[in-house]
Amino acid sequence: MTGERNTPAFIALTARGAALARRLKAELGGEVHGLTGRVDDADIDFTDTGAHLRAHFAAGRPIVGICAAGILIRALAPLLADKAKEPPVVAVAEDGSAVVPLIGGHRGANALARQIAAILGGDAAITTASDLGTGVALDAPPPGWRLVAAPDLLKTALARMAAGSRPSVTVSPDLAEIDRDWLGPTAADEASPDADRLDIIIAETAAHAADPDALLYVPARHTIGVGCARHCDPAELAALAKQAIGEAGLRREAIAGVFSIDLKSDEAAMQALARELGVPARFYSAGELEAELPRLANPSEAVFREVGSHGVAEAAALAATGPDGQLVVPKMKTANATAAIARAPLPLGDQPGRPRGQLAVIGIGPGADDWRTPEASRLINEAQELVGYGHYLDLIAPLAAGKPTKTFPLGAEEERSRYALERAGEGRNVALISSGDAGIYAMGALVMELLDRPERENGVSAAARRVEVVNAPGITALQAASARIGALVGHDFCAISLSDLLTPRDDIIARVKAAAAGDFVIAFYNPVSARRRTLLNAARDILLGQRPAETPVLIAANLGRAEEKLTPRTLSSLNIDEVDMLTVVLIGSSQSRAFSTGDGQTRFYTPRGYAAKQSMVPTS
Ligand code: SAH
Repeated sequence: MTGERNTPAFIALTARGAALARRLKAELGGEVHGLTGRVDDADIDFTDTGAHLRAHFAAGRPIVGICAAGILIRALAPLLADKAKEPPVVAVAEDGSAVVPLIGGHRGANALARQIAAILGGDAAITTASDLGTGVALDAPPPGWRLVAAPDLLKTALARMAAGSRPSVTVSPDLAEIDRDWLGPTAADEASPDADRLDIIIAETAAHAADPDALLYVPARHTIGVGCARHCDPAELAALAKQAIGEAGLRREAIAGVFSIDLKSDEAAMQALARELGVPARFYSAGELEAELPRLANPSEAVFREVGSHGVAEAAALAATGPDGQLVVPKMKTANATAAIARAPLPLGDQPGRPRGQLAVIGIGPGADDWRTPEASRLINEAQELVGYGHYLDLIAPLAAGKPTKTFPLGAEEERSRYALERAGEGRNVALISSGDAGIYAMGALVMELLDRPERENGVSAAARRVEVVNAPGITALQAASARIGALVGHDFCAISLSDLLTPRDDIIARVKAAAAGDFVIAFYNPVSARRRTLLNAARDILLGQRPAETPVLIAANLGRAEEKLTPRTLSSLNIDEVDMLTVVLIGSSQSRAFSTGDGQTRFYTPRGYAAKQSMVPTS
């Protein structure tokens, strides 16, 4: 993903470590993160080392800890799960003498450790077998190359390479010119004894029969261009694509990507085809495709009238291969789909074209790093651009550092959502940030509303309506408040916003009465605003008519933030002067209880009725 930040976060726990981190930053980019109280002049400060490391690791950020390896291992061990996705982690001794790639050797840690060791004049302690001695990572070919091999075979090959065997490489004749220096020295003349053989084949055609005893590397230098009618059956497009790949005589791995016109970026069949082939789907505007007109084998006036370019499948395949590409399979078609294949001279390491735009609607939780989901952190890290209310972006400042951000004042919600959708509509990966859960009194519903509204009725553009929307849930204020005090929402509960900006006052009162009649635990969001302070009193009076004056009430302000304040009260002692805009007010039901623990804490909970159940006499 293009927005993903690949510069390291340098984590320093001492002034000496920070000095070393600054030296590294000067060469490698990134920022210096310093432990508050120990490091004065960091770019980003933190107080809880473990939480800070976990937040950045979960977000996919490369981490260089200027500290004991053990500190990094202990902090990150609970998160280790998926080798293919996790960012590299490197430990550097404070005096620069040792550099240890701990995690993600082949996802950048070895390379990063070597760079750091070169800067510091120390040693990179590389431990991944296939890199030893040769610097070649058989399991991580360069961009644009694909490895096809059974896992067992790869393991054996890695072991043989580590033991000093050099690969004997067979290249299919059509690829004789391709650059394979990345494989390092090969066993040119002296054939290895049979037991140590390490055979490698480089081929892209299906004709080249797979050898079960050889690693097969396929350069991905072909592109498949596709077109299809709206709601084309994914199976129809997939079958045609396979037929075209067969027509070209290629292995599937030879295809670098699926390409088409941007009008189709949300077409399920195209996204499904890209997933099936394990490649990205990329798109071009009609204007970009029209530039390919002189090279088209089958230009069509009808297609031009419909989409504004004389071809889609051929034009997209050619656009992706660049000016030196050639059409190898001209347009093939079925009732609802077209496909064509082109070839570039070199493997396509960088993906040409634009991806389908993505809008991640993210709830970051109340504020504390540990209360933000790994998914939310990852999506923030992957985003190319962040949009939100300034205060929320401040809460994720370390993750947002260095990313373009667009802030809007509180209240400009529609403008904010519209802006985020339109930016994503241009092919970007945008994150729209809300506090708590984005679907609860926040931007989630507004995004859906804008997508649901026709463009002429003040909806968003057609391009914006094609973006992929990902909704990442977060911990909402009521959950945070209930957890802090015990389990006040332990049984049936509801949430009511007391903001009468968008909801008529009478409706709010009607809902409070219904909640009172239903004996729900209630969470009041937006309990007061600068100019509206009467509804909370009215609500309290309604509730006092239905539940005891002693009902537990929690006034919870700034949850998960440094200024967090919990004020336990009862229904009759709920005083509106203790409530402000950054507060959620939880009111117990008639069943909610309060007690104190040995250490003097007040606890509120709402029983689920188990106690009553236990005393029941079984009837059968
Ligand atoms: N999407 C948010 C709610 C936004 S509405 C969520 O799911 O939590 C804004 C209201 O939410 C505030 O007036 C307050 O009532 C509540 N709120 C949001 N964050 C809070 C926090 N950290 N502490 C206390 N209340 C909070």
